[in-house]
Amino acid sequence: DNDPRSSPVLDYLKQLHHTHAEFTGGEVATYIPELAKADPNWFAICLVTPDGQVYEVGDSKQQFTIQSISKPFVYGMALEDNTRSEVLAKIGMEPTGDAFNAISLESDTGRPRNPMINAGAIAAAGLVAGKSMSTRLQRILDTFSLYAGRELTVDEGVYSSESTTGHRNRAIGHMLRNFDIVDGDPTPIVDLYFKQCSISVNCRDLGIMAATLANHGVNPVTGKRAIRGEYVESVLSVMGSCGMYDYAGEWLYRVGMPAKSGVAGGIMAVLPGQLGIGIFSPPLDERGNSVRGIKVCDDFSRHFNLHLFNSP
Ligand code: GLU
Repeated sequence: DNDPRSSPVLDYLKQLHHTHAEFTGGEVATYIPELAKADPNWFAICLVTPDGQVYEVGDSKQQFTIQSISKPFVYGMALEDNTRSEVLAKIGMEPTGDAFNAISLESDTGRPRNPMINAGAIAAAGLVAGKSMSTRLQRILDTFSLYAGRELTVDEGVYSSESTTGHRNRAIGHMLRNFDIVDGDPTPIVDLYFKQCSISVNCRDLGIMAATLANHGVNPVTGKRAIRGEYVESVLSVMGSCGMYDYAGEWLYRVGMPAKSGVAGGIMAVLPGQLGIGIFSPPLDERGNSVRGIKVCDDFSRHFNLHLFNSP
């Protein structure tokens, strides 16, 4: 019986959701005023397999902004639109252990240390091909829509809130310009980065996007390719080493899957060849990761023995 409405997997997810719904730790992000409106009780889990089965529990249709979970996808686009050496000349691949918005550039070259911190993500946005910023944004939206299997759009309220308060990111943009990591005026590139962060998704989308990465770049529900297969390995590598802010090391140690989180409370985790997971719960810990999201992935990984380095 493969009716996803009744299955042992779904029963397990319901149980997991029930267990962690009671937990009330963490704080909803407030540094972008619009994000402060999130309900701390929103909570969803979505698991998607490479054969396209979607298992979702909780508030899986509640929309929220993708935020930093956009970074691996845009890094993949930068790899598709440039040669690898062009990308590597502008963005490194070493974890920093610093906060996501640290102005953390290599001292000699000015190269951002990796594409998962803001500096590297803004540099990656600058490497997306397109004649104008609106064609680049459209390419980002089209690509994200392929990953999700439905048409995604920018949440204009969050975008304008982010743009109004994003002085630190603008400063990072100017630092990148100073080191010729971005060309020309950095302002429109930072603006593109604000927009990519403000793309509205739900937890089901995150699960399918994760499963697309687990499935060598082909969306398992629609059968359409979102990224050339040869780049998936690089995207998952930077998620593995740098995807969970300054918790990335402990996350890999405990949960053992490449993952990326965002300040709106989303997490996506990928087990290559096997599954994609999306979790949404807005309260964050002090590093910016969804508190329930971490607990769910920790339990889930232990229960099914999913740690990548514990191969059967
Ligand atoms: N737009 C956010 C920022 O740059 C992204 C933060 C995040 O999800 O880490 O401040």
